[in-house]
Amino acid sequence: MRVLVVGGNAGGASAAARLRRLDENAEIVVYEKGDYISFANCGLPYHVGGVIPDRSQLLVQTPQSMKERFNIDFLTGHEVTAIDPQAHTVTVRNLATGSEVVDHYDKLILSPGGSPVRPPIPGIDSKGITPLWTIPDMDRIVAAVRGGARRAVVVGGGFIGVELAENLREQKLDVALVEMLPQVLSFLDPDMAAYAHQELLAHGVELHLGDGVASFAEGTPGTLTVTLASGKQLTADLVVLAIGVRPNTQLAEHAGLAIGPTHGIVVDDHLRTSDPDIYAVGDVVEVEQFVTKSRALIPLAGPANRQARIAANNIAGQDDTYTGTQGTSIVKVFDLAAGATGANAALLTRLGIPFRSVTIHPGQHAGYYPGSTPLHIKLLYGTDGKLFGAQATGYDGVDKRIDVLATAIRMGATVDDLTDLELAYAPPYGSAKDPVNMLGFVAQNDLTQLAESVAPEQLNDELARGALLLDVRQPEETSCGVIPGAMTIPLPELRARLNELPRDRKIIVTYCKVGLRGYVAQRILAQHGFQVANLSGGYTSWEAATTKGIEAEAVPLEREADDQQTRAGAAPARQEAQTVEIDACGLQCPGPLLKLKEALDKTGPGDLIKVTASDPGFYADVAAFAQGQHLDLVDRQRGKLVTATLRKPLQTVPAQGFTVVPGKDDDHATIIVFSNDLDKIIAAFIIANGAQAMGKKVSMFFTFWGLNVLRKDENVRIKKTFIEQMFGRMMPRGANHLTLSKMHMMGLGTNMILGLMKKYNVSPIEAMMRSVLDGGGKFIACTMSMNLMGIHREELIDGIEEGGVATMLGDADQGHINFFI
Ligand code: FAD
Repeated sequence: MRVLVVGGNAGGASAAARLRRLDENAEIVVYEKGDYISFANCGLPYHVGGVIPDRSQLLVQTPQSMKERFNIDFLTGHEVTAIDPQAHTVTVRNLATGSEVVDHYDKLILSPGGSPVRPPIPGIDSKGITPLWTIPDMDRIVAAVRGGARRAVVVGGGFIGVELAENLREQKLDVALVEMLPQVLSFLDPDMAAYAHQELLAHGVELHLGDGVASFAEGTPGTLTVTLASGKQLTADLVVLAIGVRPNTQLAEHAGLAIGPTHGIVVDDHLRTSDPDIYAVGDVVEVEQFVTKSRALIPLAGPANRQARIAANNIAGQDDTYTGTQGTSIVKVFDLAAGATGANAALLTRLGIPFRSVTIHPGQHAGYYPGSTPLHIKLLYGTDGKLFGAQATGYDGVDKRIDVLATAIRMGATVDDLTDLELAYAPPYGSAKDPVNMLGFVAQNDLTQLAESVAPEQLNDELARGALLLDVRQPEETSCGVIPGAMTIPLPELRARLNELPRDRKIIVTYCKVGLRGYVAQRILAQHGFQVANLSGGYTSWEAATTKGIEAEAVPLEREADDQQTRAGAAPARQEAQTVEIDACGLQCPGPLLKLKEALDKTGPGDLIKVTASDPGFYADVAAFAQGQHLDLVDRQRGKLVTATLRKPLQTVPAQGFTVVPGKDDDHATIIVFSNDLDKIIAAFIIANGAQAMGKKVSMFFTFWGLNVLRKDENVRIKKTFIEQMFGRMMPRGANHLTLSKMHMMGLGTNMILGLMKKYNVSPIEAMMRSVLDGGGKFIACTMSMNLMGIHREELIDGIEEGGVATMLGDADQGHINFFI
């Protein structure tokens, strides 16, 4: 039997090797048009980043090694240009010589993979634009990086684009990631992709979501200008296209083989094409999605290798079947892992399959064992409890949970089955109730209506139907953000305050940080006769589901490292100085700051305080806190956890409070803008401009109603909750819509004042604002108030920063002039 294989990489090489193991006598020839066979394309991004330093490690096999071990002829530089199914022949061109031969087969295996999509965007053929698909592509990118490229634009936020963004960042490039969809990693639901957005932003990747490339143009020699659909322009020394992959079906089409609606080659469950002597495997075939039984293209290495084995088994006379592709996948996003298996919400919705979902945020191992970090896991299942899909993100333990869930789905498990799984447990590795068991418990409660849950995306509908939202967290937690319109009763007070809750409301939706206390509250209320649902995944899920992608200014990594080195040498330690270590993992803002403050009170001058937190926001907060408290930030690291080491100064400063410490430079003026009354805002900007004129650095911190001053004039179309929409409509949109605090007189008084300002040459507010910004002043939008009032970043004018109380107090501490308006 003579077997020819088209394509010498994942599927082709695997099929050939398996066949040889089953049939020592078969003649096997593999044609590969490229220069390499069996190379590790999944490893390409990591050689770019220097994680796999030795390029030769990617070349897993060579034609020589395959000949020696398997007696298979791998002919590189040979492209199969045609198939004649009747004659059982292929035409092969030697790319080096241009000569062609016709070769005969008894069985043919097609594994030509796919090609990166290259849409007809103006300027796409410019120098400096490359995909990342093959070894030569990788070599081009490595050469550009070694040649001094400083700024890269990665187009496409799939797993290759995300991996490449990370690895280019590791090489200290400024990286902008452009994605036409509103999220990266479309195999995840938007609420789960939000964690990847946070991680990318935290590592200085500039994210441009919901914005496609309109054109490329060559700029000054060696640079490119990338113009986005929104009109934004990005400059780059290197552009990498990672927009997607299209199956290489041309050969099959010309040979008359059946092509499916997804444009992949149609194969049966034995991996046979419409011609019984031709098999096809890998990225080129259309598969059956295992859960939904729909047709799909799922280009992954695992399925390609398994299909190759099955095709070879069948050719060798065994009867083997392929049972579909689940799409189990995982990707590293800096320190975060994001994985998924089965169907996601978008697929189920598109196919009209009814489903329910729950999300939980447990620690990946017992909270009391050091280093516990949160996992975010979402389970999707049918109304009969059958598992449809799962997604997880986190710093540790994602692969384990996704693989367990993938296995469960493959075995046709239900929600009930998850509660029965007995999984490995010791404190460093898991919990007695593993997160997978927990998913089962929560989903079971949902299905049995013991504890009905509301998914974050359903919350708006519930509220529109008149539901009351009840926040059962502690007051200090709510300062980090609340869902607009919620009533707050901390869980410990709930039993005593039942009479405050209306019994005429159809339903009460409880929520806490991650869903657990919300569930306890739900059970209390249900047993007192209230109709209650719990917000699945609590505030954490809601925040993730409603967070929009934002752009980040890239923070050059080396600059940060330099800062840290400088600080490390800042002040000598007292000889008997001690180091106090605090574990603030599991706490959210302001928890880690409060713990830090507590430790400060107990330590002496020169002591070091090392704090570890799992809240990513702590990275920014700790710097502002250190500045405000006159502490040396000796070290600050961001990884799975945020760690920071601070040193108390040797000379005692007067107090631990923020405001009583004398300013360091005394050249700052801080104005907290709380109001949105026209008269007060005019006063605020007059003071700000005046302070700048006197040489002060001005920081204006806009909080609560004051945030409205920063809103854009025009209506920004973004998805909002019902309550947010109501709030948004009731509040003034920008500086041009403010009214007087007194004597507004249905607009008459306000217009009179504006007229008088014009008459006496007082600049309009917008001009005063611009002047503060142009003069180097800072506008800081209070993130907590933004959450509270449902104001999104996109609704605010350009040029502002977002920050919390630590940022504001840090600035206030730099001077003596602090106003509250
Ligand atoms: P390929 O591996 O693409 O092989 C096809 C081969 O056929 C090519 O070498 C091509 O040159 C050759 N060929 C095409 N046409 C002809 C012709 N007419 N004549 C002769 N030869 C021909 N998957 C994962 O599961 N996890 C990952 O982490 C992951 N990371 C990836 C990272 C990158 C950068 C890339 C590019 C892919 C990644 N993948 C990953 C996808 C995975 O590599 C593919 O799904 C897998 O390689 C598909 O195998 P295949 O044999 O179908 O195609």
